[in-house]
Amino acid sequence: KTNVNFVSSRNITSQTIDEWNSLISSRGFTARDDETKVGPDNILSGTTFIAKDNIATTKEPTTCASCMLDNYYSPFDATVISLLEEQGSTMVGKANLDEFGMGSANVNSYYGHAVNPLFTEEEHITGGSSGGSAASIQSDLATFSLGTDTGGSVRLPASYCGIVGLKPTYGRISRWGVIPYAQSLDTVGILAKDVETVQKVFKVLDKHDPKDPTSLPTEFREELKKEKQKYQKNRSQLVFGVPDEFLVAELSQGTREHWSHMLSTIQDMGHIVRRVSIPSIKKSISAYLALATAEASSNLSRYDGVRFGFNTNNLKDSPLELIAENRSTSLGLEVQRRIILGNYTMSAGSGNHYFKATDERRDIVEDYNEILNFPNLLMNEPGESSSEKCDIIVTPTAMSGPLSVEEYLRHDRENFLNSYVNDILTVPASLAGMPAISIPWNTPGTDSSIPQGMHLMAQFGDDHFLLDFAAELM
Ligand code: GLN
Repeated sequence: KTNVNFVSSRNITSQTIDEWNSLISSRGFTARDDETKVGPDNILSGTTFIAKDNIATTKEPTTCASCMLDNYYSPFDATVISLLEEQGSTMVGKANLDEFGMGSANVNSYYGHAVNPLFTEEEHITGGSSGGSAASIQSDLATFSLGTDTGGSVRLPASYCGIVGLKPTYGRISRWGVIPYAQSLDTVGILAKDVETVQKVFKVLDKHDPKDPTSLPTEFREELKKEKQKYQKNRSQLVFGVPDEFLVAELSQGTREHWSHMLSTIQDMGHIVRRVSIPSIKKSISAYLALATAEASSNLSRYDGVRFGFNTNNLKDSPLELIAENRSTSLGLEVQRRIILGNYTMSAGSGNHYFKATDERRDIVEDYNEILNFPNLLMNEPGESSSEKCDIIVTPTAMSGPLSVEEYLRHDRENFLNSYVNDILTVPASLAGMPAISIPWNTPGTDSSIPQGMHLMAQFGDDHFLLDFAAELM
């Protein structure tokens, strides 16, 4: 069974709030006096923001774009929401997404797909899962938005919608009140039209949160800062790594041209560009799918319609039958597929899939440590800088520009693995917990109507360095 015939009790599926279906709920677009804090200490005063609808807020439902949570109200605001409001920013709405963050095109939403504002002739995908967060910023509904990025969900839609999208280091921004998809990978990301806005918002959110057990402790943040200061002395020329393994056959001609134009721009700025190798990248998609689905199947087991979520209220002979009916009626196909995959991964019959995937994740982290100059302080290694290593890794964010919705759905029907493979460029940084940013890139002489993002990655904890360089480049 799928949820296609079920009608939302809020009847929102038939009337979208904005032209691009980028929002699931709205608070109205003018900041109310009682909500706008203006003062010298409020660095975000006068700004507005939109939060992905898997981030808990009290004033409207937090749906995760699922029929399961269509009418779910959180009793508290997520830490990120409170921090932004304390600094004077006003929330204006909640953004559309792929159900529970599972997808790469925002076509897996109970409220219908979000539409890319950059294409007027034919509907194009926004990318996912934070498609609504990206489309709403491209169409100027707010100053910035929050998304979540587990395997690329902020960076891919930023690339497709022609804006900036940051996935910070894992543990830097609080996940308290962010509904988990795969909690060892989930991060809250920031989307805006320019890097400076992302930097401002990051400053506000980059704090230890005692409510989130995975939040990086203050002492570790201090240590990072000190190590960076020592390290950065006397270095004006940076080294940029181009990993051979990312040069995959599926990259479009246009994407290759943008990549090479970006590399020559970096060289023109006086920096060095060099080929590097990260052999474990080849295993990243399989490791990601094993880990993400295993964690998802466990996280989503709480939605049974009894403790949380949609209940058919049909009389059944046993609680298990009722739970099965509630879940199979109100969870979408992709979510059900991932739960089944995850349950398989966690089962004895899978031949230790889960443990193999954790080994692969460790290999990926070690490979990155091997080629990056700045040490990975989590691994407690001093790190030696050498001319063979690099400071930032540069690749495209996506294989090509966005497809039309029709074409995407056709590919997906032919083989749903197509969209999984497309994540190869973004998933490795997620597995390694590294910061990564997508910035829009234009190459003179190429078709500027097709948006393309470039993807910069840096060592675990090196977010400020990454942001500073991205700002210089844009
Ligand atoms: N496309 C990936 C997935 O569906 C990434 C999603 C995400 O980052 N939330 O798992």
